[in-house]
Amino acid sequence: MVVNEKVKLAITVASLVAATILLAAEYRRRRRRKQTSSPSSCYLHSDIKPQFGFKRVLADNSFSGFKHLKKKKLEDGGEKPSDSHPYESEITALLESPRLDEFEFLRGEYSLEMSGSYVWVETESELKKLAETLAKEKVFAVDTEQHSLRSFLGFTALIQISTQEEDFLVDTIALHDVMSILRPVFSNPDICKVFHGADNDVIWLQRDFHIYVVNMFDTAKACEVLAKPQRSLAYLLESVCGVSTNKLLQREDWRQRPLSEEMVRYARTDAHYLLYIADSMTAELKQRGIEDSSSTDDKFSFLLEASRRSNMICLQLYTKETEDFPGNAAASSLIYRHLNGHEDNSSISLDPKFQELVRELCAWRDLMARIHDESTRYVLSDQAVIALASNQPVTPEQIHDSIAQADLSSDSSPSAVICSHLDDVFQLTQHKLGKLDVILPLVLDKCLGTEGTCPISVFNYSLLINFNTKLTTNRSTPKRHKSLKRFTRKTSRDLFVKKFSCKAPVYHNCRIYANDGRLLCYCDRRKLEWYMSRGLAKLVEEDPLAIMLLFEPKGRPEDEGNDFYIQSKKNICVGCGEGDHYLRYRIIPSCYRVHFPEHLKSHRSHDIVLLCVDCHEVAHAAAERYKKEVAKEFGIPLFVRRVLDSVECESAGGGDSEDAGVSPLHLRTAAMALLRHGNRMPSSRREELLQTVKMYYGGRDISEEDLEKALLIGMSPHERRKLERKKGVTVSVKQENSNNGSVEEHSEEAPPGGDMNGESSVVGDDSGGDGAPELNDTQCNGNILHQQNSKLSLLGHGPHGKQVVEYLLKEYGEDGVRDFCQRWRKVFVDALHPRHLPGGWDVTHSGRRDFGEFSVYNPTKKVSTG
Ligand code: AMP
Ligand code: ZN
Ligand code: MN
Repeated sequence: MVVNEKVKLAITVASLVAATILLAAEYRRRRRRKQTSSPSSCYLHSDIKPQFGFKRVLADNSFSGFKHLKKKKLEDGGEKPSDSHPYESEITALLESPRLDEFEFLRGEYSLEMSGSYVWVETESELKKLAETLAKEKVFAVDTEQHSLRSFLGFTALIQISTQEEDFLVDTIALHDVMSILRPVFSNPDICKVFHGADNDVIWLQRDFHIYVVNMFDTAKACEVLAKPQRSLAYLLESVCGVSTNKLLQREDWRQRPLSEEMVRYARTDAHYLLYIADSMTAELKQRGIEDSSSTDDKFSFLLEASRRSNMICLQLYTKETEDFPGNAAASSLIYRHLNGHEDNSSISLDPKFQELVRELCAWRDLMARIHDESTRYVLSDQAVIALASNQPVTPEQIHDSIAQADLSSDSSPSAVICSHLDDVFQLTQHKLGKLDVILPLVLDKCLGTEGTCPISVFNYSLLINFNTKLTTNRSTPKRHKSLKRFTRKTSRDLFVKKFSCKAPVYHNCRIYANDGRLLCYCDRRKLEWYMSRGLAKLVEEDPLAIMLLFEPKGRPEDEGNDFYIQSKKNICVGCGEGDHYLRYRIIPSCYRVHFPEHLKSHRSHDIVLLCVDCHEVAHAAAERYKKEVAKEFGIPLFVRRVLDSVECESAGGGDSEDAGVSPLHLRTAAMALLRHGNRMPSSRREELLQTVKMYYGGRDISEEDLEKALLIGMSPHERRKLERKKGVTVSVKQENSNNGSVEEHSEEAPPGGDMNGESSVVGDDSGGDGAPELNDTQCNGNILHQQNSKLSLLGHGPHGKQVVEYLLKEYGEDGVRDFCQRWRKVFVDALHPRHLPGGWDVTHSGRRDFGEFSVYNPTKKVSTG
């Protein structure tokens, strides 16, 4: 049944797409010919919605199904399909053997009263702290608030969590991309989560964050089992706690920040009393068990039944609704309801044109809602659809009036979608867009196509991509094919910019003066605050911020030839001057820089610059080419050629024969392909890949587990953690020494971001490679005997950077490193001919600097903190 529907949908989409090629061209021809109105500009160019800041969106608005969290289950022999519940076995275990000792929701002294204070959680570190707090609890209460009007699928705007001690309000808009931090406590079967009416919450948490609830007590289910006269939370609040709540607030716009006092009180109320209610209801359930049972065996039967029904809710899975044709279900139900309500007036309703128009409008509104990430009811209300289909207005003004009139009861004028795409509605009502099956591809192309009017986002990107890949496999003209390819590249570039460019100006250009009034440097706000909070400086100017140091700093930048540091810096690409977006670019590649002696790293604000994506690409490509030259020049290979399992290596008597082992990259690709498609690929290919993996294991036969293990070979702990986080598996690699060498980030005494002369926010995370210089592998001739505890990634450039820097230091001392830096600056300048480098920037930037009493690079300081 489900499969059947999927096939149907696939066929529909495919045929839609095929029709597009023909129609898109036709549409453009018509548009060019007519030139009636200028191409509509979409309202989304100026209407910024909070969800457009989300980077990780699990459920987008395309027609593809929802992918659930994958949890590796080695004992079951491989991975579960992603459409099954990742915690099914944990929940089933709870259903089969519930632990009675767990039904204790309150301990010790408890005051029912809601205190005046609560915790607003909006930063990643606050969320981590919350996760730590919750991990220590045996039980906590949860509720969520959704926003659904200005979003196609809806999103969680707030999560309320209450422990016996505190109420937490989690800003799930600000924290959307890092909510996985709460995954472990929610799936921990040893911690009971109390909800009221959890059916929706459970599914919403899956949809937005891949959070799965394991071990739940739902007070609504307890009501059911106790056959209470009502099951609403409002009723329980009244009857159990004597508290009243205004449920009208649940329909408020929960995206707003700050929340009004009233909304905060409502939100807290929904979670705060749940522990008390659960406690009182379990007592009642136990009591009822004793009264109603003949034997002591089933005196817990009521309680167990409530628990069982609660955990059944946890087994539910979020699915994206699919239908045979977009908007079809809504259209049918609208027509049906309309016919039933208008038996006397059936002449209009039975009009085939009316029904056709209802179907077209519903299909159009469905697609427009997906493209703009709005609810269908926001795009065009049901009553407006009916009004348009009945009135069949002939001018844009009449359309506008029809909608406004129909919606009078709810809101005033037509939605922003209608207003900026009124032309579409006009053509629909005039039947100018053609038949139903051609409308959608037309609209999609009109909105998101090469000359589309609407912005592309993570929500509609795959609508477009599916549509484009299908297009390119079709026999389109080579010219169109090329322009489409270019277009897809452009859209993915735009998304890349959105995802990776700096979200706020990098340079705050705050100033620090010496106590003689001379300018020492420009820096960011954080550093000013650091000096201020320690009483080391006084504020001398508010806007723009400037402070004066109360101690005597070591030297003055001009005296040291370091003019560079007393220039304010522009938030633009230093290559071309682009100011709309920029990314940080490291002129000295991290694979070398992380191995520099600490005090030579202090020139980060000089050697980390801002570039737009295009200049970034050019500079990066040049750097990659130059790395190859460095590798040749120094005779130090860029990639690890071969790895060999350490166990196998020992048994092979050292294993240093030249052709033992396998390239870590090849190993990983082969293992991945085998795990994913192993049983579907031709046996010859399978054998070939198996050989690659076997090479790593010294030729022995390999198991599924070996394949899994091979996936991690060559990864640094950092990369492994990233992978595990992505897969949502609990972190297994211990985080020892992960802040190795980054004194400036963790030292209590040092100003944030290092020495006096840099904007700390430019620094960022210094490397993809964890900043951890230790290499625990035994190595010879670019061959590595891999041991699991290596901190260095072998998938990237492995030990190359470390060896180059060691060589430079050994042969030429620190001057060698300085020259090496100059070479990289030259590579950068030659590749990009940057026109916007800040004044004082210099290829030969000396790097010789003294360090004052308060600098992190002060050697005495290093001893005390390092
Ligand atoms: P609650 O926990 O009762 O505050 O409801 C949680 C969320 O469900 C709210 O934030 C609303 O988005 C949604 N919701 C629940 N009931 C309704 C309703 N009757 N009308 C609109 N939205 C509702
Ligand atoms: Zn639009
Ligand atoms: Mn609520």
